[in-house]
Amino acid sequence: MSQFYTSDEYVKKILTGDRIMLSKAITLVESTKKDHQKLAAEILNGCLGNSGNSIRIGITGVPGVGKSTFIEAFGSYLIENQKKKVAVLSIDPSSSRSKGSILGDKTRMPKLANNPKAYIRPSASSGSLGGVARKTRESILLCEAAGYDIVIIETVGVGQSETSVHSMVDFFLLLMLAGAGDELQGMKKGIMEMADAIAINKADGDNIKAAENAAKEYKRALHLFPPKEYNWTSEVLTCSSIENKGLENIWEIITGFEMQMKKSGWWSKNRSEQNKFWLHDSIRQLLLDKFYRDPEKQKALLTLEDEVMKGKLSPFEAAKKISNS
Ligand code: GDP
Repeated sequence: MSQFYTSDEYVKKILTGDRIMLSKAITLVESTKKDHQKLAAEILNGCLGNSGNSIRIGITGVPGVGKSTFIEAFGSYLIENQKKKVAVLSIDPSSSRSKGSILGDKTRMPKLANNPKAYIRPSASSGSLGGVARKTRESILLCEAAGYDIVIIETVGVGQSETSVHSMVDFFLLLMLAGAGDELQGMKKGIMEMADAIAINKADGDNIKAAENAAKEYKRALHLFPPKEYNWTSEVLTCSSIENKGLENIWEIITGFEMQMKKSGWWSKNRSEQNKFWLHDSIRQLLLDKFYRDPEKQKALLTLEDEVMKGKLSPFEAAKKISNS
């Protein structure tokens, strides 16, 4: 595939919004082959000047909370009512452990998948969570170059991937349900702290009252958290993805957030900080790769592992020894 186009051709096509070329470029970004990675890096460089203009929205919630139904409804609302182009990328910690995927199936959002103004990309299915996150981050830049004004990063709320997603988005939305057990709340505290808004989904039918009560409860709970450094009070609201209720409210909150954060300077400061974070993350990854691919180190490791396992050498001493060698 990569042999057929130069990086310039990729960039040109992506900038016109060509979805096939965007998909091919993301496949290159996800590839572990050296020549693919080289081409991907060139394409990214070529796109960089046209990236950064979207609102990057992270969406998380436990399986079954209604993420795909919500994104399908919210994405359609943004396209139809706000005249936006919407890209949806998924980070799925389950698929990176090759246990099958909780997220990332295109058919989960059939309406959006068929909308020419939407682009849906399932999660990369190989590599570590860190690797998948890095690739998603690069895919965001490509989607922006292709003209998507809203990039939604979806992840499953099971606790590992939220921090990665939080470090690549502008706004973080947590979907929750009324009546989730108290034992769950503790687990979600960290995620709740990260959220800029919490939407209690499935506020329809018999569930409306319970959802409203849950919203009140979460509002109270959020008051107990320390205020956010960027001076934002997290919003709590209810929505129904199947009845398209609350979508406009969520959009208003997001645009209000954007306005306030751009005015205070936090928007660009946050993105710079995120770039710094990803720089260090990439350095760590590159150094690790280099270390573990070095045949000399591999040989030395065999001996050291043996000594450590027999208790002749402490793991820390062994690590020091091989790092200096
Ligand atoms: P995900 O695992 O978080 O992506 O959840 P899904 O979007 O697949 O939704 C799980 C189930 O909840 C499906 O049966 C949906 O039809 C249902 N669901 C999603 N959103 C709503 C909603 O707003 N109201 C109701 N009543 N059901 C919903």
